Amino acid sequence: MRLVLVGPPGAGKGTQAVRLAERLDIPHISTGDLFRANLQSGAETPLGLEAKRYMDAGDLVPDAVTVAMVRERLAEDDAGKGFILDGFPRNLSQASSLEQLLTERGEAIDSVVEFQVPEEELVQRLLGRGRNDDTEDVIRRRQQVYRDETAPLLAHYGDRLITIDAVGSVEQITDRVADALRSR
Ligand code: AMP
Repeated sequence: MRLVLVGPPGAGKGTQAVRLAERLDIPHISTGDLFRANLQSGAETPLGLEAKRYMDAGDLVPDAVTVAMVRERLAEDDAGKGFILDGFPRNLSQASSLEQLLTERGEAIDSVVEFQVPEEELVQRLLGRGRNDDTEDVIRRRQQVYRDETAPLLAHYGDRLITIDAVGSVEQITDRVADALRSR
């Protein structure tokens, strides 16, 4: 199965991606995690350093950098049996690059899962998380980038879109997604 998870920052995508990857036995690919791995102290790479200033501002890393990184990750063996993309694509241009990349492999995205959470709750959750890029200004900027650049993907994916109410316990939400995927 090839899945894309979409949702505003703080919607719990990352947590759910890990759990779903385990249930479905496919790799979890998070572009945010890949960027952060390239920034680990003592192991910074040019890619990580390039990404850092965008991440610190809550802006999207340029598409060329991001798409090249995803292309490399998808070329690894474990992604042959399917994958869960978490945080990619984040705009329409990345979505079309992904489509192109998958078409070359004779593949396509099966479903896109949207995690819905009211905005006031998102900001509270993120302020409690304490990541480097979780200051209030940057959080608000990331929410705005989501509304402006990422939300248009929802219409783009049309009937492949599954919308999940992402308020509830971690277990409840995983079950909702798993049920929705099963009944497709
Ligand atoms: P995340 O861990 O998904 O919240 O991502 C953290 C930060 O990494 C974002 O605020 C962006 O700066 C960057 N990032 C992650 N995924 C992407 C992407 N698909 N395109 C551009 N920038 C991204």
